[in-house]
Amino acid sequence: MPHSTILRSTVALVTGASSGIGQATARRLAAEGATVVLVARRQDRINTLAKEIAERDGHAVALAADLTDPAAAAGVVGAAVAQLGRLDMLVNAAGVMLLGDAIGAPLPEWQQMVDINVKGLLYITKAALPHLVDAATTHPRQVADVVNISSIAGRFAIPNAAVYNATKFGVTAATESWRQEFARRNVRFSVVEPGLVETELMGHQQAAVQERMTARFADVEQLHPDDIAEAVAYIVTSPRRRAVAEIVIRPTDQV
Ligand code: NDP
Repeated sequence: MPHSTILRSTVALVTGASSGIGQATARRLAAEGATVVLVARRQDRINTLAKEIAERDGHAVALAADLTDPAAAAGVVGAAVAQLGRLDMLVNAAGVMLLGDAIGAPLPEWQQMVDINVKGLLYITKAALPHLVDAATTHPRQVADVVNISSIAGRFAIPNAAVYNATKFGVTAATESWRQEFARRNVRFSVVEPGLVETELMGHQQAAVQERMTARFADVEQLHPDDIAEAVAYIVTSPRRRAVAEIVIRPTDQV
């Protein structure tokens, strides 16, 4: 892996680091020189990624947490800052998508989406904010970053996706509000809105929903998680003067 030093001596916390977009982003930020804090529930997965990053001369720390628990979310931020001394970037990639018709949908699916996509993101962002504000003044970059992985479902509502749409519209809205609130404190807030990316996301849905979606997108060449990691890297390695508020990325074939 070619090593850049652009993020040297920064610390980036990436949620959803055990899989898909979060995992690819963690690898990429480590390759840009950041020390990366890997957060997800599956400890074995993030341990393996931390080892892989270390073998490539990068730095990573694995901290397992269920981010739907506010104390656990605050706990990983506290542990990261205690261990590494600072926090310069937060990438919120943890999330679930559980689509289906509204009448047949199990209520726990709706609760799970709200709990992680919205509440989990809020809990960890709140815990990170004071450290990000500090980091923006104490690093030569003179800036800190929060990148939230929303979705094209955060800009366009579609049938059978009401709650997922609601969570992602919420992420997009919160990001824009925070962007304005923190603009003069050198903390940039960005939202990345991907279309279809080849990850484990689809696989958590009911079998019938999964089959319908697989058939619908059968002829679409899906994005790779690295495509999204590249967008995140562009955002966080931007010079202080340039704040990228929003990036929408779809597969070329996705209408
Ligand atoms: P994956 O299913 O591959 O990854 C989801 C990640 O979220 C996993 O690392 C999982 O880790 C973590 N996660 C889920 N619940 C929790 C929890 N309660 N606490 C902590 N971590 C949790 O999907 P993607 O990489 O595709 O998804 C990443 C983000 O991108 C999501 O927010 C998704 O909505 C968004 N997105 C994805 C698109 C796609 O087509 N794939 C398109 C647009 C947006 P673990 O299970 O180990 O806890």
